[in-house]
Amino acid sequence: MRIVLLGPPGAGKGTQAVLLASAHGIPHVSTGEMLRKADKDGTPLGLQVRSILARGDLVPDEVVIALLRERLQQQDCDRGFLLDGFPRTVPQAQALNRMLVELHKELTHIIEIAVPEDILIARIRSRGASGSGRSDDTEEVASKRLKVFWEQTAPVIEYYRKSQGVIEVDGLGTIDDVATRIGAVLQ
Ligand code: AMP
Repeated sequence: MRIVLLGPPGAGKGTQAVLLASAHGIPHVSTGEMLRKADKDGTPLGLQVRSILARGDLVPDEVVIALLRERLQQQDCDRGFLLDGFPRTVPQAQALNRMLVELHKELTHIIEIAVPEDILIARIRSRGASGSGRSDDTEEVASKRLKVFWEQTAPVIEYYRKSQGVIEVDGLGTIDDVATRIGAVLQ
């Protein structure tokens, strides 16, 4: 299985990605996690992206595309992968397509976790208040991330809808409810 998991910040995408990847024994590839680690480790990449992450903006396409290309070429991705947080722009989706054709690893499923905007805002607030430990989890940055999602990532969903097709999964309910729905569409 070669899956892309799409959805706005606050939709529970990261949680579902971890569950899904472990259920199917495939690597969970999160560009956000890779970037946060680089930031924490103080690598040249980390220093380059630190202020971008802190603001909730997107890292330049060429940077994340190069990062993902390298990751997908690692051997564990031969058995499949789950992409979480990539692609986030239409140029990233186009680059991913070209990359996967080249590697003979075309996507098998594109899944969107859909949650209404008012609920996302409420979730972002409670997540910020509970202090997840993520420096980009303040309410201000989370709202920025949501704005960036509507402007830059929602068009990615449209792009896939027109090309490969998108499986929409209702993101309301408990973590288990959503995991069960995703499991069902992958049967
Ligand atoms: P995430 O953990 O997926 O929410 O990503 C955290 C942050 O990393 C985002 O707010 C962006 O600043 C950056 N990031 C992660 N993935 C990408 C991507 N595909 N393109 C651009 N920026 C990204």
